[in-house]
Amino acid sequence: SSFAELNLSPEIQRALDDMGYQTPTPIQKQAIPLVLAGRDLMAQAQTGTGKTAAFALPLLQKMQPFANTSTSPARHPVRALVLAPTRELAIQVYESVVAYGKHIPLRSTVVYGGVGLDTQTPQLRAGVEVLVATPGRLLDHAGSRVLSLAQVEYLVLDEADRMLDMGFLPDLKRILSLLPQNRQTLLFSATFDDSITRLAQSFLRDPLKVEV
Ligand code: AMP
Repeated sequence: SSFAELNLSPEIQRALDDMGYQTPTPIQKQAIPLVLAGRDLMAQAQTGTGKTAAFALPLLQKMQPFANTSTSPARHPVRALVLAPTRELAIQVYESVVAYGKHIPLRSTVVYGGVGLDTQTPQLRAGVEVLVATPGRLLDHAGSRVLSLAQVEYLVLDEADRMLDMGFLPDLKRILSLLPQNRQTLLFSATFDDSITRLAQSFLRDPLKVEV
């Protein structure tokens, strides 16, 4: 089977062609139609399974009708927030978003700790539709006036098990309290133990479980 069966937009299909992707991976085949349909997901997938495209492709597609080249920050509110446990993963996810969204005029950026807040504020102030972040740094920015999460429609928790292992649960709870209730949430985790299941029960709405 091919990506053509997944009804992705010509702009996304073109990005996949540019990258030489021909066949969706199993997680992509399962998750993409469900994300397009608006469902919350608990997806069990290891790194290397193509999980990034499994959430990024359908979310970019859903945001595409709102893409614009306006220079007004107000026209670029954060609509998709992706949380990742480490700086390395956040950067990797961000680079994938940029590649998959190459032909769509959506703005994206990545914020993580270990560098000055000031290096990241200009882009946030200019407005970004897709924000990839580590939890602590996201909260640092959310406390300032440059970042509003009030218009987030899509939340992705990537490598949720690692975020819990690293002690991010309190940060995740604070972040979730800043987001609209009415949103679509996608949780990816390599493992599904009780703590992940509890997290999913409190943050997701009628989630479907996808395993590869
Ligand atoms: P991920 O699990 O998201 O980290 O992806 C693992 C690697 O597989 C990355 O290098 C992706 O660029 C690549 N990849 C993801 N989906 C596909 C696909 N459908 N066809 C070929 N390569 C892919």
